[in-house]
Amino acid sequence: MKNKKYNAETERLMDLMINSIYTNKEIFLRELISNASDAMDKMYYIALNDDNVKFNHEDYYIRITPDKEKRTITIEDNGVGMTEDELVENLGTIAKSGSLDFKKLNEKNEEHEIIGQFGVGFYSAFMVADEISVLTRSYKEDEAHIWKSKGAKGYTIESGKKDSHGTIITLHLKENSKDEDYDKYLDEYKIRELVSHYSNYISYPIKMEVEKK
Ligand code: ADP
Ligand code: MG
Repeated sequence: MKNKKYNAETERLMDLMINSIYTNKEIFLRELISNASDAMDKMYYIALNDDNVKFNHEDYYIRITPDKEKRTITIEDNGVGMTEDELVENLGTIAKSGSLDFKKLNEKNEEHEIIGQFGVGFYSAFMVADEISVLTRSYKEDEAHIWKSKGAKGYTIESGKKDSHGTIITLHLKENSKDEDYDKYLDEYKIRELVSHYSNYISYPIKMEVEKK
């Protein structure tokens, strides 16, 4: 297992996310779904130029799975996935994130302006989660990797197992506090509402796995 540190800007943004008082925390789901959708679009573009890669739109989907006992919500896609180097580059360094303009972040901006105007992508998940794990396998290779982080201090990468390419992101939700209810993100109807509110434009099916009791 390798321990790694975030670069300074990332650490700063993460700190902002972790301690966020932003009222619209639910946008994290939109960000993760849009990343999943982007990852599948990338498969499409790769298939255009690479005869070894096939793309059938019907094979692609996003799956959301809440687990009330573990207090986790999982977002899975079968998109491009990431190699170890790509994990470090994409989830360890904010400079790679297209959506955030850090000059603006370094100026004295209000939190809601930063989050609202730029979208903060992946890291917005730290508004609701105290631990995030990413199991991913790139379409380019057979081995999978697990990226894990509990916050601004850093992250770890270890090897993992996954049968096919794509990414499974698991958020362990923060404990409820008197100001904030995180359990609501485990509720099937709340998730449906968020998906239809924010992710209507997504061109892949969004499935939800719920426990039948
Ligand atoms: P943006 O989507 O604007 O690039 P994000 O912070 O949302 O910024 O994501 C950072 C990067 O992490 C993405 O550009 C992508 O390379 C990678 N990434 C995030 N989620 C996934 C995913 N589900 N599958 C593959 N790559 C991903
Ligand atoms: Mg994004």
